[in-house]
Amino acid sequence: MSLNPDQLRILVTGASRGIGKAIAIELASRGAKIAGLATKTANLAATQAAVEAAGGEFLALEGDISVPETAQAAVKAMVDAWGGVDGLVANAGITRDNLLMRMSAADFESVVQTNLGGAFHFLKAVTRPMMKQKSGRVVLVGSVVAATGNPGQANYCAAKAGLHGLARSAALELGSRNITVNVVAPGFIQTDMTDALSEEQRAAMAQKIALKRPGTPEDVAGAVHFLLSPSGAYITGQVLLVDGGLSLG
Ligand code: NAP
Repeated sequence: MSLNPDQLRILVTGASRGIGKAIAIELASRGAKIAGLATKTANLAATQAAVEAAGGEFLALEGDISVPETAQAAVKAMVDAWGGVDGLVANAGITRDNLLMRMSAADFESVVQTNLGGAFHFLKAVTRPMMKQKSGRVVLVGSVVAATGNPGQANYCAAKAGLHGLARSAALELGSRNITVNVVAPGFIQTDMTDALSEEQRAAMAQKIALKRPGTPEDVAGAVHFLLSPSGAYITGQVLLVDGGLSLG
């Protein structure tokens, strides 16, 4: 299944590495033009090369997603270059793990401002061009721990849980303009983010997964593509878990 030929201009935040990079490559291979954002355009070189090798066009954008102006500038750059925005994948995120008693207010705030605030700024920024076009697809990258909780990640879980409410409210507000808003919630995926865990922590986590293996960034990219493809047209305000059964118990 390819993307809708009318829905080809897609903004992916956190496109330099891990899940965002895989999403950019997957969507480009299905015919999309990708505007990829990271903290620095230099970090996007490998993604740009892979997107172009897959036959796609790539627009490299930089900035801190927790700053509203980054989102406004990114959307303006897309509209200037390609005349509109058909899809947003708000994927960039960070962790600042610590037990609640030791978690600083700064670490709580930076995770909420980046993971939840960043998604809000980008969702808000694409709303205007998408409403004008009377079509759009938005995927926010959440996490399975939004529903389960996770010791040491109170800030991260709070921010990711916030994305679910954000998506549901936006889905209700924007549905009449043919704009869908969903969350893809990955489980334990092999990226730089999870490479920071010890071997023991990773083995223990893998044991809890029904499919007995960590996910790959490509596993998540497939689900994002589904929601952006014509097959996902009647799905909005939902959370799609891509966790290999981790959340089953
Ligand atoms: P990752 O490998 O650590 O990559 C993070 C990406 O976000 C990078 O492209 C990074 O850009 C970008 N980024 C971080 N902070 C940013 C900021 N303030 N402004 C702009 N860009 C920023 O992470 P990942 O594992 O692929 O995770 C991607 C998403 O999936 C995150 O939202 C994460 O919470 C979620 N997730 C991951 C897992 C997992 O197991 N890996 C599980 C559930 C959910 P630079 O290269 O410029 O730093």
